[in-house]
Amino acid sequence: MTVRVRFAPSPTGFLHIGSARTALFNYLFAKHHNGKYLLRVEDTDRERSTPEAVDAIFKSLKWLGIEADEEPVFQFSRYKRHAEIANQLLNEGKAYYCYCSPEELQAMREESAANGRPPRYNGMWRDSDQTAPVGIKPVIRFKSPQTGYVTISDHVQGTVTVKNSQLDDMVLLRADGTPTYMLSVVVDDHDMKITHIIRGDDHLTNSFRQHHIYKALGWDVPEFAHIPLIHGADGAKLSKRHGATGADAYQDQGYLAEAMKNYLLRLGWGHGDDEIISEEQAIKWFTLEGIGRSPARFDIIKLNNLNGHYIRQADNQRLFDLCLPIIESMLERTVTPLESDHILKGMNGLKERAKTIVELADSSLIYVRPFDRDEKAQAMLGNENLALLKNLQQNLNSVDFNESALEVTLRNFADTAKVKLGQVAAPLRVAITGRVVSPSLFEVMAILGREESLSRIERVIL
Ligand code: GLU
Repeated sequence: MTVRVRFAPSPTGFLHIGSARTALFNYLFAKHHNGKYLLRVEDTDRERSTPEAVDAIFKSLKWLGIEADEEPVFQFSRYKRHAEIANQLLNEGKAYYCYCSPEELQAMREESAANGRPPRYNGMWRDSDQTAPVGIKPVIRFKSPQTGYVTISDHVQGTVTVKNSQLDDMVLLRADGTPTYMLSVVVDDHDMKITHIIRGDDHLTNSFRQHHIYKALGWDVPEFAHIPLIHGADGAKLSKRHGATGADAYQDQGYLAEAMKNYLLRLGWGHGDDEIISEEQAIKWFTLEGIGRSPARFDIIKLNNLNGHYIRQADNQRLFDLCLPIIESMLERTVTPLESDHILKGMNGLKERAKTIVELADSSLIYVRPFDRDEKAQAMLGNENLALLKNLQQNLNSVDFNESALEVTLRNFADTAKVKLGQVAAPLRVAITGRVVSPSLFEVMAILGREESLSRIERVIL
């Protein structure tokens, strides 16, 4: 059997990070088994589905590198096939027309509520021999088994059983001829030859009803794995209150796709104590059994640390390319070739500290002129320090501008002036970079070169 899985987002907004994790689990599971990972856009809710949401979801999946092995399927385009199956069930006596009016359905809901039960259809047209009322378009309802039990052996939730008497006869085809979600999902999963359904556990209850539809059609029921949702740090379901929930926002804030994937993988799936897991390793290790049963808590500090790790690992040119548009929008101008050269040369030092690409872009500004000094930096430039810098200036005129020569010069200077190295380095750092924190000062000076470094010192001592 070839494993075939799918990710089935409803295009009503951006790609939620919980959904991104569902996509990732499906993807890794498929790759682990040398199977196929497919994408199905569940756009049957015509009012809430938008082309912008489809684009946003595709863009985020592409960013994450979770790409489908076959052309995406758009569910709405298959509505005729769904209706055909509803009619097949009708003809086989496994479904029936229901002519209930909205008032009758409302009365049923009220009765259920009065008895403290969830709303349910009372089956009034199930075996009815009443003649069809004229002028009313019927819906098609599924004849759900009324006795016995249905059991799902879920790969994450374990064995879950419900009484069939708890499931009412759901609508398969609405009066306007459009199929319901419950029917479309089953027909599509069958036609796409899906072997494993890995999705959020908010769909667990649907799987009992879907099980019955598969059985009525004589189709194999796929295996299920319902994964717990993601919660915020306070334990409540992840929502906007906890910060960004869209994958696109994380891309914009400067997270690397590989860091995001590693983080989402670890959120709800584990392999011992391993925290840093490459995609290659994840494909080797991924099993449904490794998925935790309780909701994972989103922890931005862990994500930041992972992102910092992947930034340090990343190729400098790639980091530069990611930073460039951010730098240019911060500067509101293009970066000159010389500045680009300096930033790229300084990338090893810059990337040591950055937790996001936005932070990296911001720290790159030390290679760009003119820059602003914040208050802390300005406070370093008191008269005493300025006097030190003035004296130091002479010594820098003749020294070779490489890291070790600069270090020796500075140490000697500090010795002669009878001050600690830090006392000279701190104002010098402010003069050179405008900041109190930066990559190695000698590295920055060596990259900037004598002329630029001296002119930066000049600028503060004048
Ligand atoms: N379209 C559903 C959703 O976005 C997923 C349905 C499924 O995976 O079966 O929640």
